[in-house]
Amino acid sequence: MIKNIKYKADRLIIEKRAFINGAFVKSHGGKIINKVSPVDGMDLSGLCACDSGDIDRAVAAAGKSFESGIWRNKSPLEKKAILLRLADLMEKSRERLAILDTVETGRAFKNYYYDSIPKAIAALRYFAESLDKYYDYAVPPRSNSLAFVTREPLGVVGIITPWNDPLVVSVWKFAPALLMGNSVVIKPAEQSSFSILEVAKLAQKAGIPDGVFNVVPGYGDIAGKALALHRNVAGIFFTGSSEVGKLILQYAGQSNMKKVGLECGGKSPMIISKKCQDLGRAAAVLAENIFYHQGQICSAPSRVIVDAEIQARFVELLKKESRKYIPADPFDANSDVGCVVSREQEGKIRQYIKIGVRDGAKMFTPRATVKINPRACYVLPTIFEDVKIDSVIAQEEIFGPVVVVLVFDHMEEAVKIANNSRFGLAASIWTNDLDEAYHISRELQAGIVHVNSYGDDDDTVPFGGIKESGVGKDKSIFAFDEYSYLKTTWIRFDNIE
Ligand code: NAD
Repeated sequence: MIKNIKYKADRLIIEKRAFINGAFVKSHGGKIINKVSPVDGMDLSGLCACDSGDIDRAVAAAGKSFESGIWRNKSPLEKKAILLRLADLMEKSRERLAILDTVETGRAFKNYYYDSIPKAIAALRYFAESLDKYYDYAVPPRSNSLAFVTREPLGVVGIITPWNDPLVVSVWKFAPALLMGNSVVIKPAEQSSFSILEVAKLAQKAGIPDGVFNVVPGYGDIAGKALALHRNVAGIFFTGSSEVGKLILQYAGQSNMKKVGLECGGKSPMIISKKCQDLGRAAAVLAENIFYHQGQICSAPSRVIVDAEIQARFVELLKKESRKYIPADPFDANSDVGCVVSREQEGKIRQYIKIGVRDGAKMFTPRATVKINPRACYVLPTIFEDVKIDSVIAQEEIFGPVVVVLVFDHMEEAVKIANNSRFGLAASIWTNDLDEAYHISRELQAGIVHVNSYGDDDDTVPFGGIKESGVGKDKSIFAFDEYSYLKTTWIRFDNIE
């Protein structure tokens, strides 16, 4: 059991400068971001607020390292060894990384230490181990010529990440990008930059050459925008809201038609059929996935679509489950649920709750004593019934511990309700009828569909949405395709008859 987390958090020496060309440097504009921890109001000011000049510096360093071939020309075995070394170093720093993320984002330390950071390390190892088992293609030969198709690095790759799972999302992008031979410039979310700056230090120690791995913190509309608009960036890979995702597409069009990958928001549906025999388990899995981390998970099932015949029973079970997800002190090693990332995010969630009530929905929150610092940002689990299908709380991503209950009489209606969304990240169907499970899972418009489960996850399978949830895939060997382009090479053998 890890002890004295708060004591250690108070004594952290935190790197807040940008990491460019192998060195920690201040923003040349000298600006900083002032902020406090959502856990207890601890002052966290001083993070570099980089601007377009800093982005220019980082892109130039990345471009130079790419042209030199110092990284891209390393063999798969060499790249693999270096990234495995980085994974080992992250493992050794696991406690520190978990504390840094807890301090900045308010998610429970336990989540980071036992779940999120190990997941990031495992993903890094998965990608590193995959590279030398991954082949390019040779086309069936003609009599006097041969064509082969190779994956080539894009060049300088820009990566923009959100705050809700800082290292997992970063690794999902920088690992395949580096392994394909690119040099990267990472712009982390202004709310959560400390752990990736720490990883930059470890990356250098692991042997990643200077200029290949750069981290440039700052505001999205300044540093993020400059990166996405940069003409010397060949690909931009973003995780965040759909609104900013759309801007990223525009920036690519306005500049150099760079390759774009987008992992955006969601409003994922979970359908509960009357043929589901274990409503208790369905309610428990729903509660875990929507209330864990205060609902700040892109693929959280925030719409439950229940057969009218079983609605009352199911909602009672869900209310009971919700009592297990009361926020508690994130620094307490026993807390399962921590805080919301900021006062601003808390305000946004509370505003949606007000809108739900205003629009006539019936609200439930469990009665609970919340043992948490009075300055902490949090929201209690919230369940809305009597929700209109097209209402604001049924359509917009709240990104908080809020679930809306929608009701249907026939399965076709359930599918219509589920697909009546601008998002298409994940979805789920609960039924013990195999035909129904298969048919409905094929009808659901989502990048990931779960049958009688939710949130199952593994590095070996792709993750990503459709519609306004994004384009492209994170994770699995398919991710390598995102960070490379296919080159066809023809060889003519003139001396062969
Ligand atoms: P956000 O869109 O506000 O910010 C994401 C990143 O984009 C941050 O680094 C931010 O600084 C940057 N950014 C903001 N404006 C920008 C601009 N004009 N140009 C370039 N960059 C800009 O999202 P957030 O609030 O940090 O994260 C929550 C959102 O992320 C939710 O919508 C959630 O669903 C989504 N998300 C999606 C996934 C997924 O895999 N699909 C995973 C995690 C989070």
